[in-house]
Order: sequence, then structure tokens, then C-alpha cells
Amino acid sequence: MQKYDYLVVGAGLFGCVFAHEATKKGKKCLVIDKRPHLGGNVYCENVDGINIHKYGAHIFHTNDKHIWDYVNQFAEFNNYINSPVSISKGKLYNLPFNMNTFYQLWGTKTPEEAKSIIERQIKTYGCEDPKNLEEQALSLIGKDVYETLIKEYTEKQWGKKATELPAFIIKRLPVRYTFNNNYFNDKYQGIPIGGYNKIIDGLLEGIEVKTNVDFFENKNAFSQQADKIVFTGKIDEFYNYKFGNLEYRSLRFENTRLEKENYQGNAVVNYNDAEVPYTRIIEHKHFEFGKQAHTVITKEFPEQWTTKKEAYYPINNSKNQEKYQQYKIMAQQESNVIFGGRLAEYKYYDMHQIIASALQKVKKELN
Ligand code: FAD
Repeated sequence: MQKYDYLVVGAGLFGCVFAHEATKKGKKCLVIDKRPHLGGNVYCENVDGINIHKYGAHIFHTNDKHIWDYVNQFAEFNNYINSPVSISKGKLYNLPFNMNTFYQLWGTKTPEEAKSIIERQIKTYGCEDPKNLEEQALSLIGKDVYETLIKEYTEKQWGKKATELPAFIIKRLPVRYTFNNNYFNDKYQGIPIGGYNKIIDGLLEGIEVKTNVDFFENKNAFSQQADKIVFTGKIDEFYNYKFGNLEYRSLRFENTRLEKENYQGNAVVNYNDAEVPYTRIIEHKHFEFGKQAHTVITKEFPEQWTTKKEAYYPINNSKNQEKYQQYKIMAQQESNVIFGGRLAEYKYYDMHQIIASALQKVKKELN
């Protein structure tokens, strides 16, 4: 006998928003996740009062008032503004590239001075038809910014030389001729006070959930329990890798607790140099302006992905896109399975985009 209207596979933001909205409309949902906790990649682990972003630093930002109001139903947001800094050859630079960065690079004090250096460098080192990431970056920003703040960081991130990476990885490079270190341009930004788990708990209130449960270990039995499945896991796994694996880039996180109040003075510090094996250090307490006597830092090491590791960033080359399109065609023919979220759509989504996508899919489904 079917007990549920929807079996939601995956308790990440997509699954939770879908289940919340369906439940509001009187549907009965069961949410399962193979991890020992809810929340997917936005999950926070509390270490003596500090919320650790366990799967990488998460900063909420959006231009969409509707999405901002939606998340604010579940948690109050603080006024955190993401202003990362980057260390390169022993010097510290502000990000994103702005008048502070240009002053630190060249001592320029006016937009005209900075613009003329960038334009001259683009003319000298750029080209009309960039064939790889290096040529693309040189054509967008010139040599100094590229070599100081982009090249080695990007090579570490993708595990490949910039000349071997496709140009499309960098579509635009945000350049600001103002003294503005706010990384995002969006109207709304912040961190939920008390961490992202508050949002997840609010979304899942009153909904049956099971953790440590892998859908594929009991696919048939699970499928028979509900009229429809909302699947937010990996689409290639759903089809038993029929067309082969979709590839990802992975990350390894190394957490250290330090008995000092303030380690680096900022939540996010990037490390550009190739000799440093990690790309950034996150000091989580600064996301919530913590005043604890201790701190926790996380070093983020980019890694080659294998099927046993967490899949973080889709590798969006033509080989993977062709494979994904084959899976997508199969998914479109399913009448009882709804695919959604970053793993089922093989797409990098920010949180506000995932929420918008889940709201749209659940609306279509229930209307
Ligand atoms: P997920 O959160 O991955 O949830 C999918 C869930 O499905 C997981 O919990 C998984 O365990 C479960 N699952 C998979 N297969 C099975 C199975 N077989 N059985 C049971 N359960 C299963 N966005 C921002 O807006 N701002 C940021 O600053 C930001 N930073 C990021 C940093 C990193 C390092 C990464 C990787 C992403 C970042 N994002 C950020 C994006 C954000 O994490 C995603 O938009 C969001 O978490 C995606 O939600 P989801 O539900 O699609 O996927």
C-alpha cells in the first residue's frame, strides 16, 4: 500500500523546499537522505557555539525579494557582507578586483589611472579569439591581475594548467572602479543567525524524515511506498551509469580548532600561490561575528574526484554535457519521477537558484 504522495530522495535545499511546499498543500511526504544529517551541502556542525559550514563556506545572496522573504520565514539573517582577501607572494589583496586591489597592485588612486593600466595590458597580452582560460583572462583583465590573483589559484582549483583549461570557465571577470570590497552585487545578502540548519529545520517541521538511508539500497521497496519520487541525487547513478559517469571536481576539508579568539580576521582568505596546496582558509566564526575564546578554521584542498568522494563541482565540458543530455532524455520520459537539484540536473546552482527552481517545480507539479 502506498503511504506517501511523495518520496523525496535527498534532504538538501531542493528536497526540503519541495517537501515543505507539498506538505503545505496537504500532500504526505517522506524525506530520506543517505547522510547522517539533514540539509545536504548547507549543513552546519556546531562546535562549541561556532557553526562550521561542513561542506564549504556558504553565503546567501540574491536579488530576488521573493526568495529573500522566503528564507527569512525560517531564520533571521545577519548583515554579513562577503569581502574575501587573497594572499599572493606574501602580499594581501582585496577581492573582488576593485580600486583597493589596483592600489595594492600598482599604487593607482583614481579610476582613470587603473583603467589605463588594465586597458594597456589587455591590448598587449589579450587576443581576439581566446582559445584557453589563460588567453581569456589576459583578454579580460591583463597580465598583472591574472598572474597575481587568478592563474595559480585557478590551476589549483581545477588541477590543470590554465592553458589546458577551456576559456568558457571564465565568462566575465567582475572589475569595479570603486573602492567596494563587497564580493556580490546582489541586493540581499547574509548568513542565517544560528546557521543554515535553522532553515532546514523550519522547512522540514512536521515532515517525516529518515537519515542514513540510501535510496539505491532499497530502490524498489522505497518506490512502492509513494505515488511519486522527487530525486535529488546523481542522475547517472539513478540510471546505473548506463551512459557512463558524469565527472566532478571534489574538495577535501581539513578542520582545526585553535585556542585563540581570532586567527585571520576575516571569514574567507584565499591563497593564490601554487606552493600552498589549499585554495582558501575559512574562519567560520566571522560569518556570525562570533566572540568565542576559541576558533575553528578550515583549509580547503581541491581534489580529483572518484565515485567514492563527494561530488562538488560538475566538470562542464562537452563530453560530460553529451552524457548528461542522454540521461536528461531518459528523465523526461519518467512520469513518476521528478528530478531536481544540483546532482540530478548536473549543474552548479547557488542556494537562491536552487530554492527558486524547487518552488517552480513544486508549483508546476501541484497546479
Ligand atoms: P545537496 O545539498 O547536495 O543535497 C542533495 C542531497 O541528496 C544530499 O544530502 C545527499 O546526501 C542526498 N542524496 C544523494 N543521493 C542519495 C541517495 N541515493 N539516497 C539518499 N540520499 C541521497 N551557494 C550559495 O548560494 N552561496 C555560497 O556561498 C555557496 N557556496 C558553495 C560552496 C561549495 C564548496 C559548494 C559545493 C556549493 C556552494 N553553494 C553555494 C551551492 C549550494 O551548496 C547549493 O546550491 C545547494 O546546497 C544545492 O542543494 P541541493 O538540494 O541541490 O543538493
